Amino acid sequence: MANNDTIVALATATGSGAIALIRLSGQQAVTIVNKVFNGKDLSRQPSHTIHFGVIRDGEAVLDEVLVSLFNAPRSYTGEHVVEISTHNSRYIIERIIQLLVKEGARMAQPGEFTLRAFLNGRMDLSQAEAVADLIASNSAASHQMAMQQMRGGFSNVLKRLREQLIHFASLVELELDFSEEDVEFANRGQLKALVLEIERTVRKLIASFEQGNVLKNGVPVVIAGKPNVGKSTLLNTLLNEDRAIVSDIAGTTRDTIEDEISINGVLFRFIDTAGIRDTDDVIEAKGVERTREKMRQARLIIYLADPLQDDAATIGGQIDEIAGLNIPYVVVVNKTDLLDEEHRQALHAIQPLFISAKNNVGVEGLKAELLQKVNLHRLDAEDVLVTNARHVEALQRTGEALLRVLHGIDGAVTSDFLAMDIRQALHHLGEITGSVSTDDLLDNIFSKFCIGK
Ligand code: GDP
Repeated sequence: MANNDTIVALATATGSGAIALIRLSGQQAVTIVNKVFNGKDLSRQPSHTIHFGVIRDGEAVLDEVLVSLFNAPRSYTGEHVVEISTHNSRYIIERIIQLLVKEGARMAQPGEFTLRAFLNGRMDLSQAEAVADLIASNSAASHQMAMQQMRGGFSNVLKRLREQLIHFASLVELELDFSEEDVEFANRGQLKALVLEIERTVRKLIASFEQGNVLKNGVPVVIAGKPNVGKSTLLNTLLNEDRAIVSDIAGTTRDTIEDEISINGVLFRFIDTAGIRDTDDVIEAKGVERTREKMRQARLIIYLADPLQDDAATIGGQIDEIAGLNIPYVVVVNKTDLLDEEHRQALHAIQPLFISAKNNVGVEGLKAELLQKVNLHRLDAEDVLVTNARHVEALQRTGEALLRVLHGIDGAVTSDFLAMDIRQALHHLGEITGSVSTDDLLDNIFSKFCIGK
């Protein structure tokens, strides 16, 4: 994928907006733009400067533009990078890109700018992946995690692990050099303590994935309850309120995130809301298994009851069903606007939250309860959470190799066997940062990026 071509792509989204950004990277970036740019001679301008001028196709002026120059290696990709800010017209953009291609640039593949940044050592693989996460981030928490990873927080932890392992390996491999003499340089007790420490850190990182994943992709929630208790109404109330807040910000649209809400920066994702009426058969014998299946995907269940349909004892029985799933749940009694005080008292035994979904009463309290139930510890700026399934897999393999090392030490195996497993552990750690990588892996990661990133 990587070569000496100079690549070009639109880096901004198409659609309405005043400005578009066309980006080039490669040896010939400045030369190519210079051929179509009317203004200063760009090849004589210093790096990190901006220049006003026009882009011409022969006699025709295509647009007045600003050109930013970033000379290698002080650029995003580590190569010469030129960014052209144009007016955001599809016509202008297409004409300019065609022109640049005619002058020798090639259309970039998805993620190719970031791939080059990785190949040129501007960032490691986990940082490159964080660029995609950052672009996709849609809550304070997912933003913070992506930012932390992109800025190298995760990479630094891995680097420390790697250094410790290499230190360990060097002690063991020293013995290999003297294997004829059957000496042990490395004190086995100290070795074991070191590996245990590394293994503990790896395990902690693996464990952080649960929270990391939830923060990145949203807490999966199911709203369960009998037909007509108000599930759709509640969902709409939750979504509408959130939408109202977001739509205050000009130009934002929520079309693509219909069934997600953000509470205090934490994303909640409602499972299968399109088919929310399917969950109507909750608790009814024939639907139980299907519903359970759905609920098992949840990290949180809102159990909604209608006090006009069921009395406290019946609702209590249904709650026992839910409790059997071992997933945190919130019991909510809806339609409190139709409830008199006596009726309300009778329901206190099941300790529900009282709401009226239709009138948006008590919904704030429900949100607070949801946050409390998922029990995410507050993120500090330095917290490193693993958010990527690929990284977890590599960490798991690292951990397995480390366990083999530990068993090896306990079983007094020879140092060459220990060294083999240590190298395995190092190999898997290296897969995360990309110090060990294959074309297939890179292809797989970067092809998921958008063009221009
Ligand atoms: P679902 O089948 O559980 O999704 O229930 P719906 O959301 O369709 O609601 C069933 C009926 O209950 C509708 O007529 C709603 O307007 C009504 N409803 C929902 N929430 C409330 C509420 O808080 N108070 C009252 N009085 N009616 C409600």
